[in-house]
Amino acid sequence: MNPALSRSASSASVHAAVPHQVKILAVDDDKDNLFALQAVLEPLKQELMLAENGTDALRLCLDHDFAAILLDVRMPGIDGFETAELIRARKRSRHTPILFLTAYRSDEQLFRGYDLGAVDFLFKPIVPEVLQSKVSVFVELSRSEQLLRRQAQELSRAERTFRAVLEGAPDAMVITSASGVIELANSRTDSLFGHPRESLIGCDIRTLIPGWRCPELIDGTPSAASPPIETRMTAIRQNGSLFPAEITSSSFSAPDNVLVTTAIRDATDQVQAENRINRINQELEKRVADRTAELTRSNEALRQFAWAASHDLQEPIRTVLAYSQWLAKSVAGRLDEREATMLKFIEQHGARMYELVSGLQQYIYVSESGQQAWASVNCNEVVKTATFALQGMIDETGALIECEPLPTIDSIELLLVQLFKNLISNGIKYRSQAQPHIQVSAERNGKGWIFSVRDNGIGVEPKYFEYIFGVFRRLHGVEQSGTGIGLAICRAAVERLGGRIWVESTPGSGSVFHFFHPEQNKEVPEHAPEAAHEPQKQTV
Ligand code: ADP
Repeated sequence: MNPALSRSASSASVHAAVPHQVKILAVDDDKDNLFALQAVLEPLKQELMLAENGTDALRLCLDHDFAAILLDVRMPGIDGFETAELIRARKRSRHTPILFLTAYRSDEQLFRGYDLGAVDFLFKPIVPEVLQSKVSVFVELSRSEQLLRRQAQELSRAERTFRAVLEGAPDAMVITSASGVIELANSRTDSLFGHPRESLIGCDIRTLIPGWRCPELIDGTPSAASPPIETRMTAIRQNGSLFPAEITSSSFSAPDNVLVTTAIRDATDQVQAENRINRINQELEKRVADRTAELTRSNEALRQFAWAASHDLQEPIRTVLAYSQWLAKSVAGRLDEREATMLKFIEQHGARMYELVSGLQQYIYVSESGQQAWASVNCNEVVKTATFALQGMIDETGALIECEPLPTIDSIELLLVQLFKNLISNGIKYRSQAQPHIQVSAERNGKGWIFSVRDNGIGVEPKYFEYIFGVFRRLHGVEQSGTGIGLAICRAAVERLGGRIWVESTPGSGSVFHFFHPEQNKEVPEHAPEAAHEPQKQTV
Protein backbone atom coordinates (compact mmCIF):
# COMPACT_ATOMS: atom_id res chain seq x y z
CA MET A 1 0.00 0.00 0.00
CA ASN A 2 1.18 3.53 -0.78
CA PRO A 3 2.17 5.29 2.41
CA ALA A 4 0.02 8.13 1.14
CA LEU A 5 -2.84 6.04 2.32
CA SER A 6 -1.84 6.99 5.81
CA ARG A 7 -3.96 9.62 7.41
CA SER A 8 -3.92 11.85 10.43
CA ALA A 9 -6.39 11.56 13.18
CA SER A 10 -7.80 14.99 14.07
CA SER A 11 -5.36 16.91 16.23
CA ALA A 12 -6.03 17.12 19.91
CA SER A 13 -4.85 19.99 22.03
CA VAL A 14 -2.40 18.80 24.63
CA HIS A 15 0.18 20.43 26.85
CA ALA A 16 2.75 22.26 24.75
CA ALA A 17 5.60 20.13 26.05
CA VAL A 18 3.72 16.90 25.31
CA PRO A 19 3.66 15.78 21.68
CA HIS A 20 0.18 16.26 20.18
CA GLN A 21 -0.07 12.96 18.39
CA VAL A 22 1.92 9.80 18.17
CA LYS A 23 2.09 7.51 15.16
CA ILE A 24 0.73 4.00 14.96
CA LEU A 25 1.53 1.61 12.11
CA ALA A 26 -0.95 -1.06 11.05
CA VAL A 27 0.34 -3.74 8.66
CA ASP A 28 -2.08 -6.21 7.01
CA ASP A 29 -2.30 -7.62 3.49
CA ASP A 30 -6.09 -7.46 3.71
CA LYS A 31 -7.41 -3.99 2.91
CA ASP A 32 -10.69 -4.70 4.68
CA ASN A 33 -8.79 -5.55 7.83
CA LEU A 34 -6.85 -2.32 7.51
CA PHE A 35 -10.04 -0.30 7.14
CA ALA A 36 -11.51 -2.13 10.10
CA LEU A 37 -8.42 -1.28 12.21
CA GLN A 38 -8.68 2.29 11.06
CA ALA A 39 -12.29 2.50 12.18
CA VAL A 40 -11.52 0.97 15.55
CA LEU A 41 -8.55 3.27 16.25
CA GLU A 42 -10.19 6.45 14.96
CA PRO A 43 -11.49 7.50 18.44
CA LEU A 44 -7.90 7.51 19.80
CA LYS A 45 -7.23 10.51 17.52
CA GLN A 46 -3.65 9.53 16.79
CA GLU A 47 -1.86 9.42 13.44
CA LEU A 48 -2.45 6.00 11.94
CA MET A 49 -0.21 4.83 9.08
CA LEU A 50 -1.13 1.80 7.02
CA ALA A 51 0.98 -0.71 5.11
CA GLU A 52 -0.21 -3.71 3.10
CA ASN A 53 3.03 -5.68 3.28
CA GLY A 54 6.25 -6.06 5.21
CA THR A 55 8.32 -4.10 2.70
CA ASP A 56 6.13 -0.99 2.95
CA ALA A 57 6.12 -1.36 6.72
CA LEU A 58 9.92 -1.47 6.81
CA ARG A 59 10.13 1.59 4.55
CA LEU A 60 7.83 3.53 6.86
CA CYS A 61 9.92 2.44 9.86
CA LEU A 62 12.93 4.06 8.24
CA ASP A 63 11.29 7.49 8.28
CA HIS A 64 8.99 7.44 11.30
CA ASP A 65 8.97 6.63 14.98
CA PHE A 66 5.89 4.61 15.97
CA ALA A 67 4.29 4.34 19.36
CA ALA A 68 3.16 0.81 18.38
CA ILE A 69 3.08 -1.47 15.32
CA LEU A 70 0.10 -3.75 14.69
CA LEU A 71 1.49 -6.54 12.57
CA ASP A 72 -0.47 -9.24 10.81
CA VAL A 73 1.35 -12.54 11.11
CA ARG A 74 0.28 -14.16 7.88
CA MET A 75 1.18 -12.09 4.86
CA PRO A 76 2.42 -13.02 1.43
CA GLY A 77 6.11 -12.24 0.76
CA ILE A 78 7.80 -11.48 4.02
CA ASP A 79 5.41 -12.53 6.74
CA GLY A 80 4.77 -10.79 10.03
CA PHE A 81 7.55 -12.55 11.96
CA GLU A 82 10.17 -11.81 9.32
CA THR A 83 8.98 -8.23 9.17
CA ALA A 84 9.26 -8.03 12.99
CA GLU A 85 12.78 -9.42 12.85
CA LEU A 86 13.82 -6.79 10.31
CA ILE A 87 12.11 -4.03 12.31
CA ARG A 88 14.04 -5.10 15.43
CA ALA A 89 17.27 -5.20 13.45
CA ARG A 90 17.06 -1.45 12.84
CA LYS A 91 18.33 0.85 15.52
CA ARG A 92 15.51 3.35 15.19
CA SER A 93 12.78 0.75 15.66
CA ARG A 94 14.61 -1.66 17.97
CA HIS A 95 12.36 -0.89 20.92
CA THR A 96 9.08 -0.14 19.14
CA PRO A 97 6.31 -2.26 20.71
CA ILE A 98 4.89 -4.82 18.25
CA LEU A 99 1.41 -6.36 18.61
CA PHE A 100 0.89 -9.37 16.40
CA LEU A 101 -2.52 -9.88 14.82
CA THR A 102 -3.27 -13.51 14.15
CA ALA A 103 -6.13 -15.86 13.68
CA TYR A 104 -4.18 -18.89 15.04
CA ARG A 105 -3.53 -19.62 18.64
CA SER A 106 -0.53 -21.90 18.50
CA ASP A 107 2.13 -22.02 21.20
CA GLU A 108 4.80 -22.25 18.55
CA GLN A 109 3.61 -18.99 17.04
CA LEU A 110 3.44 -17.36 20.42
CA PHE A 111 7.00 -18.38 21.37
CA ARG A 112 8.36 -17.24 18.05
CA GLY A 113 6.51 -13.96 18.32
CA TYR A 114 7.70 -13.24 21.86
CA ASP A 115 11.22 -14.26 20.82
CA LEU A 116 11.08 -11.58 18.16
CA GLY A 117 10.17 -9.02 20.77
CA ALA A 118 6.40 -9.01 20.46
CA VAL A 119 4.75 -7.31 23.39
CA ASP A 120 1.37 -8.83 22.80
CA PHE A 121 -0.86 -10.93 20.56
CA LEU A 122 -4.33 -9.99 19.41
CA PHE A 123 -6.45 -12.76 18.05
CA LYS A 124 -8.80 -12.32 15.18
CA PRO A 125 -11.61 -11.55 15.10
CA ILE A 126 -10.33 -8.45 16.90
CA VAL A 127 -12.44 -7.13 19.75
CA PRO A 128 -12.45 -3.32 19.19
CA GLU A 129 -12.41 -2.35 22.92
CA VAL A 130 -9.48 -4.66 23.59
CA LEU A 131 -7.54 -3.27 20.63
CA GLN A 132 -8.32 0.32 21.64
CA SER A 133 -7.29 -0.15 25.25
CA LYS A 134 -4.04 -1.97 24.37
CA VAL A 135 -3.08 0.64 21.77
CA SER A 136 -4.00 3.45 24.20
CA VAL A 137 -1.47 2.11 26.69
CA PHE A 138 1.29 2.26 24.07
CA VAL A 139 0.18 5.70 22.96
CA GLU A 140 0.49 6.95 26.53
CA LEU A 141 3.82 5.20 27.01
CA SER A 142 5.18 6.73 23.84
CA ARG A 143 3.99 10.20 24.77
CA SER A 144 5.56 9.93 28.23
CA GLU A 145 8.78 8.67 26.74
CA GLN A 146 8.91 11.55 24.27
CA LEU A 147 8.19 13.97 27.05
CA LEU A 148 10.96 12.50 29.19
CA ARG A 149 13.36 12.62 26.26
CA ARG A 150 12.58 16.27 25.70
CA GLN A 151 13.00 17.08 29.37
CA ALA A 152 16.31 15.27 29.42
CA GLN A 153 17.43 17.28 26.39
CA GLU A 154 16.34 20.52 28.08
CA LEU A 155 18.18 19.55 31.22
CA SER A 156 21.35 18.72 29.43
CA ARG A 157 21.15 21.96 27.45
CA ALA A 158 20.62 23.93 30.67
CA GLU A 159 23.54 22.16 32.28
CA ARG A 160 25.77 22.84 29.29
CA THR A 161 24.77 26.54 29.42
CA PHE A 162 25.42 26.68 33.15
CA ARG A 163 28.84 25.08 32.74
CA ALA A 164 29.68 27.42 29.87
CA VAL A 165 28.71 30.42 32.05
CA LEU A 166 30.76 29.05 34.92
CA GLU A 167 33.75 28.45 32.67
CA GLY A 168 33.37 31.78 30.93
CA ALA A 169 33.36 33.73 34.22
CA PRO A 170 36.36 36.05 34.51
CA ASP A 171 36.99 34.87 38.08
CA ALA A 172 37.54 31.60 39.84
CA MET A 173 34.01 30.43 40.74
CA VAL A 174 33.36 27.94 43.50
CA ILE A 175 29.93 26.62 44.41
CA THR A 176 29.60 25.26 47.92
CA SER A 177 27.00 24.20 50.40
CA ALA A 178 26.13 26.71 53.10
CA SER A 179 28.68 24.96 55.33
CA GLY A 180 31.39 25.51 52.73
CA VAL A 181 31.74 22.06 51.14
CA ILE A 182 32.82 22.52 47.51
CA GLU A 183 30.35 21.06 45.00
CA LEU A 184 31.60 22.63 41.78
CA ALA A 185 34.51 24.78 40.63
CA ASN A 186 35.50 26.21 37.27
CA SER A 187 38.83 25.81 35.52
CA ARG A 188 40.00 29.25 36.62
CA THR A 189 39.94 27.88 40.14
CA ASP A 190 42.59 25.31 39.09
CA SER A 191 44.79 27.94 37.55
CA LEU A 192 44.40 30.37 40.46
CA PHE A 193 45.00 27.89 43.26
CA GLY A 194 47.00 25.15 41.55
CA HIS A 195 44.69 22.40 42.85
CA PRO A 196 43.25 20.01 40.23
CA ARG A 197 39.57 20.87 40.18
CA GLU A 198 38.36 17.33 40.85
CA SER A 199 40.44 17.14 44.03
CA LEU A 200 38.60 20.18 45.37
CA ILE A 201 35.13 18.65 45.13
CA GLY A 202 34.01 17.67 48.63
CA CYS A 203 36.73 19.76 50.32
CA ASP A 204 36.02 22.73 52.57
CA ILE A 205 36.40 26.03 50.71
CA ARG A 206 38.32 27.25 53.77
CA THR A 207 41.30 25.24 52.54
CA LEU A 208 41.45 27.89 49.80
CA ILE A 209 40.18 30.89 51.77
CA PRO A 210 40.52 30.34 55.53
CA GLY A 211 38.39 33.39 56.35
CA TRP A 212 35.46 32.36 54.10
CA ARG A 213 32.01 32.62 55.60
CA CYS A 214 28.54 32.02 54.32
CA PRO A 215 26.39 35.09 53.61
CA GLU A 216 23.89 35.51 56.39
CA LEU A 217 20.92 33.20 56.02
CA ILE A 218 17.49 34.02 57.34
CA ASP A 219 16.00 30.98 59.06
CA GLY A 220 18.63 28.88 57.34
CA THR A 221 17.62 30.06 53.88
CA PRO A 222 18.93 32.86 51.72
CA SER A 223 16.63 35.76 51.06
CA ALA A 224 16.65 39.07 49.28
CA ALA A 225 17.64 40.54 52.64
CA SER A 226 20.85 38.47 52.68
CA PRO A 227 23.30 40.82 51.05
CA PRO A 228 26.24 39.29 49.21
CA ILE A 229 29.58 39.44 50.98
CA GLU A 230 32.15 41.50 49.12
CA THR A 231 35.45 41.57 50.87
CA ARG A 232 39.18 41.11 50.55
CA MET A 233 40.67 38.01 52.19
CA THR A 234 43.89 36.07 52.18
CA ALA A 235 43.82 33.00 49.94
CA ILE A 236 46.21 30.01 49.91
CA ARG A 237 47.61 28.30 46.82
CA GLN A 238 48.37 24.60 46.71
CA ASN A 239 52.08 25.38 47.20
CA GLY A 240 51.24 27.20 50.44
CA SER A 241 51.87 30.70 49.10
CA LEU A 242 49.42 33.37 50.22
CA PHE A 243 47.83 36.07 48.09
CA PRO A 244 45.19 38.77 48.60
CA ALA A 245 41.87 37.97 46.93
CA GLU A 246 38.69 39.90 46.22
CA ILE A 247 35.84 37.64 47.36
CA THR A 248 32.17 37.96 46.46
CA SER A 249 29.88 35.34 48.01
CA SER A 250 26.16 35.14 47.56
CA SER A 251 23.78 32.42 48.60
CA PHE A 252 20.85 31.07 46.66
CA SER A 253 18.19 28.42 47.07
CA ALA A 254 18.75 25.17 45.20
CA PRO A 255 15.80 22.73 45.04
CA ASP A 256 16.84 20.80 48.15
CA ASN A 257 19.40 22.96 49.91
CA VAL A 258 21.13 26.33 50.07
CA LEU A 259 24.14 26.86 47.85
CA VAL A 260 26.73 29.61 47.91
CA THR A 261 28.55 30.95 44.87
CA THR A 262 31.92 32.47 45.64
CA ALA A 263 33.81 34.45 43.01
CA ILE A 264 37.51 34.78 43.78
CA ARG A 265 39.81 37.24 42.04
CA ASP A 266 43.55 37.61 42.61
CA ALA A 267 44.00 41.13 44.02
CA THR A 268 47.82 41.09 44.15
CA ASP A 269 48.21 43.73 41.41
CA GLN A 270 45.49 45.87 42.91
CA VAL A 271 47.01 45.71 46.40
CA GLN A 272 50.44 46.55 44.99
CA ALA A 273 48.94 49.50 43.09
CA GLU A 274 47.11 50.67 46.24
CA ASN A 275 50.30 50.38 48.27
CA ARG A 276 52.14 52.36 45.62
CA ILE A 277 49.43 55.04 45.63
CA ASN A 278 49.50 55.17 49.44
CA ARG A 279 53.27 55.51 49.42
CA ILE A 280 53.08 58.25 46.79
CA ASN A 281 50.33 60.01 48.75
CA GLN A 282 52.37 59.86 51.92
CA GLU A 283 55.40 61.17 50.07
CA LEU A 284 53.29 63.92 48.54
CA GLU A 285 51.79 64.85 51.89
CA LYS A 286 55.25 64.98 53.40
CA ARG A 287 56.52 67.07 50.50
CA VAL A 288 53.56 69.45 50.80
CA ALA A 289 54.10 69.71 54.56
CA ASP A 290 57.84 70.34 54.04
CA ARG A 291 57.15 72.88 51.31
CA THR A 292 54.48 74.60 53.44
CA ALA A 293 56.88 74.79 56.38
CA GLU A 294 59.57 76.13 54.05
CA LEU A 295 57.17 78.70 52.61
CA THR A 296 55.97 79.70 56.06
CA ARG A 297 59.58 80.16 57.12
CA SER A 298 60.48 82.21 54.05
CA ASN A 299 57.23 84.21 54.31
CA GLU A 300 58.01 85.00 57.89
CA ALA A 301 61.56 85.96 56.95
CA LEU A 302 60.24 88.16 54.12
CA ARG A 303 57.63 89.71 56.36
CA GLN A 304 60.25 90.48 58.99
CA PHE A 305 62.52 91.90 56.33
CA ALA A 306 59.74 94.03 54.81
CA TRP A 307 58.67 95.22 58.22
CA ALA A 308 62.24 96.02 59.26
CA ALA A 309 63.01 97.65 55.92
CA SER A 310 59.87 99.79 55.90
CA HIS A 311 60.29 100.64 59.56
CA ASP A 312 64.04 101.35 59.33
CA LEU A 313 63.66 103.28 56.07
CA GLN A 314 61.09 105.63 57.54
CA GLU A 315 63.57 107.37 59.85
CA PRO A 316 66.29 108.23 57.26
CA ILE A 317 63.57 109.29 54.75
CA ARG A 318 61.99 111.53 57.34
CA THR A 319 65.46 113.01 58.06
CA VAL A 320 66.13 113.58 54.34
CA LEU A 321 62.73 115.26 54.08
CA ALA A 322 63.30 117.46 57.13
CA TYR A 323 66.78 118.53 56.00
CA SER A 324 65.69 119.22 52.43
CA GLN A 325 62.83 121.40 53.74
CA TRP A 326 65.22 123.16 56.13
CA LEU A 327 67.72 123.63 53.30
CA ALA A 328 65.02 124.99 51.00
CA LYS A 329 64.09 127.56 53.60
CA SER A 330 67.66 128.58 54.48
CA VAL A 331 68.83 128.97 50.89
CA ALA A 332 65.58 130.49 49.67
CA GLY A 333 66.32 133.16 47.07
CA ARG A 334 70.01 132.24 46.77
CA LEU A 335 69.63 129.36 44.33
CA ASP A 336 69.30 129.73 40.61
CA GLU A 337 66.17 128.30 38.97
CA ARG A 338 67.74 124.91 38.12
CA GLU A 339 69.11 124.44 41.66
CA ALA A 340 65.75 125.39 43.15
CA THR A 341 63.93 122.87 40.91
CA MET A 342 66.37 120.11 41.89
CA LEU A 343 65.85 120.84 45.57
CA LYS A 344 62.08 120.78 44.99
CA PHE A 345 62.44 117.33 43.35
CA ILE A 346 64.36 116.03 46.36
CA GLU A 347 61.57 117.27 48.59
CA GLN A 348 58.75 115.81 46.44
CA HIS A 349 60.35 112.40 45.92
CA GLY A 350 61.33 112.19 49.56
CA ALA A 351 57.70 112.79 50.48
CA ARG A 352 56.57 110.18 47.97
CA MET A 353 59.06 107.66 49.27
CA TYR A 354 57.85 108.32 52.80
CA GLU A 355 54.26 107.75 51.69
CA LEU A 356 55.14 104.49 49.95
CA VAL A 357 57.12 103.11 52.85
CA SER A 358 54.32 104.04 55.28
CA GLY A 359 51.77 102.36 53.00
CA LEU A 360 53.87 99.23 52.84
CA GLN A 361 54.21 99.16 56.59
CA GLN A 362 50.48 99.58 56.95
CA TYR A 363 49.88 96.72 54.46
CA ILE A 364 52.17 94.39 56.41
CA TYR A 365 50.50 95.42 59.60
CA VAL A 366 47.01 94.72 58.24
CA SER A 367 48.08 91.37 56.76
CA GLU A 368 49.36 90.34 60.15
CA SER A 369 46.51 91.62 62.26
CA GLY A 370 44.81 88.21 62.56
CA GLN A 371 46.12 87.88 66.05
CA GLN A 372 44.21 90.94 67.11
CA ALA A 373 41.22 90.44 69.34
CA TRP A 374 37.80 90.00 67.80
CA ALA A 375 35.03 91.92 69.48
CA SER A 376 31.51 93.09 68.90
CA VAL A 377 31.79 96.09 66.56
CA ASN A 378 29.06 98.58 65.76
CA CYS A 379 29.63 99.29 62.08
CA ASN A 380 27.74 102.61 62.25
CA GLU A 381 30.43 103.83 64.69
CA VAL A 382 33.14 102.46 62.43
CA VAL A 383 31.88 104.50 59.46
CA LYS A 384 31.64 107.58 61.69
CA THR A 385 35.28 107.15 62.78
CA ALA A 386 36.40 106.67 59.19
CA THR A 387 34.57 109.78 57.93
CA PHE A 388 35.86 111.79 60.88
CA ALA A 389 39.40 110.92 59.79
CA LEU A 390 38.51 112.09 56.27
CA GLN A 391 36.77 115.29 57.37
CA GLY A 392 39.34 117.61 55.71
CA MET A 393 38.85 115.91 52.34
CA ILE A 394 35.05 115.86 52.75
CA ASP A 395 34.93 119.57 53.54
CA GLU A 396 37.30 120.41 50.75
CA THR A 397 35.26 118.57 48.11
CA GLY A 398 31.78 119.08 49.57
CA ALA A 399 31.28 115.31 49.51
CA LEU A 400 27.96 113.89 50.74
CA ILE A 401 28.34 110.69 52.77
CA GLU A 402 25.17 108.66 53.39
CA CYS A 403 25.06 105.58 55.55
CA GLU A 404 22.17 103.16 55.93
CA PRO A 405 21.78 101.51 59.34
CA LEU A 406 24.60 98.99 59.67
CA PRO A 407 24.74 95.87 61.85
CA THR A 408 26.83 95.19 64.89
CA ILE A 409 29.08 92.25 64.12
CA ASP A 410 31.96 90.30 65.55
CA SER A 411 35.03 91.70 63.87
CA ILE A 412 38.33 93.55 64.28
CA GLU A 413 37.41 97.22 64.54
CA LEU A 414 40.75 98.58 63.41
CA LEU A 415 40.54 96.69 60.12
CA LEU A 416 36.98 97.80 59.48
CA VAL A 417 37.91 101.46 60.08
CA GLN A 418 40.84 101.10 57.67
CA LEU A 419 38.57 99.43 55.08
CA PHE A 420 35.84 102.08 55.15
CA LYS A 421 38.44 104.87 55.27
CA ASN A 422 40.19 103.63 52.13
CA LEU A 423 36.98 102.91 50.21
CA ILE A 424 35.29 106.23 51.12
CA SER A 425 38.44 108.27 50.43
CA ASN A 426 38.83 106.56 47.03
CA GLY A 427 35.18 107.35 46.27
CA ILE A 428 35.92 111.01 46.89
CA LYS A 429 39.38 110.97 45.31
CA TYR A 430 38.24 109.46 42.03
CA ARG A 431 35.25 111.77 41.69
CA SER A 432 33.78 113.08 38.48
CA GLN A 433 32.65 116.63 37.82
CA ALA A 434 29.61 116.02 40.02
CA GLN A 435 29.52 116.59 43.76
CA PRO A 436 30.93 113.39 45.34
CA HIS A 437 28.13 111.23 46.79
CA ILE A 438 29.09 108.16 48.80
CA GLN A 439 26.50 105.64 50.04
CA VAL A 440 27.36 102.95 52.58
CA SER A 441 25.02 99.98 53.13
CA ALA A 442 24.94 96.40 54.36
CA GLU A 443 22.82 93.41 53.49
CA ARG A 444 22.45 90.01 55.19
CA ASN A 445 23.84 87.24 53.02
CA GLY A 446 23.92 83.60 54.12
CA LYS A 447 26.31 83.29 56.98
CA GLY A 448 27.47 86.91 56.95
CA TRP A 449 26.98 90.42 55.64
CA ILE A 450 27.75 92.12 52.36
CA PHE A 451 28.86 95.73 52.90
CA SER A 452 28.80 98.13 49.95
CA VAL A 453 30.41 101.53 49.35
CA ARG A 454 28.87 103.20 46.31
CA ASP A 455 30.22 106.37 44.68
CA ASN A 456 29.24 108.52 41.70
CA GLY A 457 32.84 108.94 40.51
CA ILE A 458 34.70 108.20 37.30
CA GLY A 459 34.28 104.41 37.59
CA VAL A 460 36.68 101.58 36.68
CA GLU A 461 36.89 99.67 33.43
CA PRO A 462 35.94 95.97 33.89
CA LYS A 463 39.36 94.77 32.71
CA TYR A 464 40.89 96.44 35.82
CA PHE A 465 38.39 94.99 38.34
CA GLU A 466 40.95 92.50 39.63
CA TYR A 467 44.11 94.43 38.83
CA ILE A 468 43.44 97.39 41.14
CA PHE A 469 43.52 95.16 44.26
CA GLY A 470 47.23 94.37 43.74
CA VAL A 471 50.05 96.07 45.69
CA PHE A 472 51.27 99.32 44.05
CA ARG A 473 48.69 98.99 41.25
CA ARG A 474 47.36 102.35 40.03
CA LEU A 475 45.34 103.48 37.07
CA HIS A 476 46.38 107.07 37.56
CA GLY A 477 49.62 108.96 37.27
CA VAL A 478 51.04 111.81 39.28
CA GLU A 479 48.00 113.99 38.53
CA GLN A 480 46.25 112.03 41.29
CA SER A 481 48.02 111.48 44.60
CA GLY A 482 48.21 107.93 45.89
CA THR A 483 50.47 104.94 46.46
CA GLY A 484 48.47 102.18 44.78
CA ILE A 485 48.37 100.30 48.06
CA GLY A 486 44.97 101.38 49.48
CA LEU A 487 42.89 98.63 47.83
CA ALA A 488 45.62 96.02 48.50
CA ILE A 489 45.26 96.93 52.17
CA CYS A 490 41.47 96.56 51.84
CA ARG A 491 41.86 93.08 50.32
CA ALA A 492 44.37 92.03 53.00
CA ALA A 493 42.03 93.30 55.72
CA VAL A 494 38.94 91.54 54.29
CA GLU A 495 40.86 88.28 53.85
CA ARG A 496 42.09 88.57 57.42
CA LEU A 497 38.43 88.75 58.43
CA GLY A 498 37.68 85.62 56.39
CA GLY A 499 35.77 87.38 53.60
CA ARG A 500 36.39 88.67 50.09
CA ILE A 501 36.22 91.99 48.27
CA TRP A 502 35.20 92.90 44.71
CA VAL A 503 34.12 95.86 42.62
CA GLU A 504 31.24 96.53 40.24
CA SER A 505 31.48 99.59 38.07
CA THR A 506 30.41 101.30 34.86
CA PRO A 507 33.04 103.81 33.73
CA GLY A 508 31.55 107.29 33.95
CA SER A 509 28.73 106.21 36.27
CA GLY A 510 30.55 105.40 39.49
CA SER A 511 31.63 102.26 41.29
CA VAL A 512 30.39 100.01 44.07
CA PHE A 513 32.97 98.24 46.22
CA HIS A 514 31.45 95.25 48.01
CA PHE A 515 33.00 93.11 50.69
CA PHE A 516 31.58 90.01 52.34
CA HIS A 517 32.17 89.75 56.09
CA PRO A 518 31.39 86.28 57.47
CA GLU A 519 29.76 85.79 60.81
CA GLN A 520 32.29 84.65 63.37
CA ASN A 521 29.98 83.72 66.22
CA LYS A 522 26.62 82.12 66.04
CA GLU A 523 25.03 85.19 67.60
CA VAL A 524 22.57 86.98 65.37
CA PRO A 525 23.78 90.52 64.71
CA GLU A 526 21.92 93.25 66.52
CA HIS A 527 20.53 94.54 63.24
CA ALA A 528 18.28 91.94 61.80
CA PRO A 529 18.46 91.44 58.03
CA GLU A 530 15.11 93.22 57.58
CA ALA A 531 16.67 96.39 58.91
CA ALA A 532 19.24 96.23 56.17
CA HIS A 533 16.54 95.58 53.56
CA GLU A 534 14.50 98.58 54.58
CA PRO A 535 17.18 101.13 55.30
CA GLN A 536 16.66 104.52 56.83
CA LYS A 537 19.21 106.88 55.39
CA GLN A 538 21.30 109.03 57.66
CA THR A 539 23.88 111.58 56.78
CA VAL A 540 27.16 111.24 58.62
P1 ADP B 1 45.65 104.74 45.16
O1 ADP B 1 44.30 105.32 45.35
O2 ADP B 1 46.58 105.12 46.21
O3 ADP B 1 46.16 104.93 43.81
P2 ADP B 1 44.35 102.25 45.54
O4 ADP B 1 44.93 100.91 45.78
O5 ADP B 1 43.42 102.79 46.59
O6 ADP B 1 45.56 103.18 45.29
O7 ADP B 1 43.58 102.22 44.19
C1 ADP B 1 44.21 101.63 43.08
C2 ADP B 1 43.65 102.23 41.83
O8 ADP B 1 42.29 101.89 41.64
C3 ADP B 1 43.61 103.73 41.86
O9 ADP B 1 44.83 104.25 41.44
C4 ADP B 1 42.45 104.09 40.96
O10 ADP B 1 42.93 104.17 39.64
C5 ADP B 1 41.54 102.94 41.08
N1 ADP B 1 40.41 103.21 42.00
C6 ADP B 1 40.34 102.91 43.30
N2 ADP B 1 39.15 103.31 43.83
C7 ADP B 1 38.44 103.85 42.81
C8 ADP B 1 37.15 104.44 42.70
N3 ADP B 1 36.32 104.53 43.76
N4 ADP B 1 36.75 104.88 41.50
C9 ADP B 1 37.56 104.80 40.44
N5 ADP B 1 38.79 104.25 40.47
C10 ADP B 1 39.25 103.79 41.65
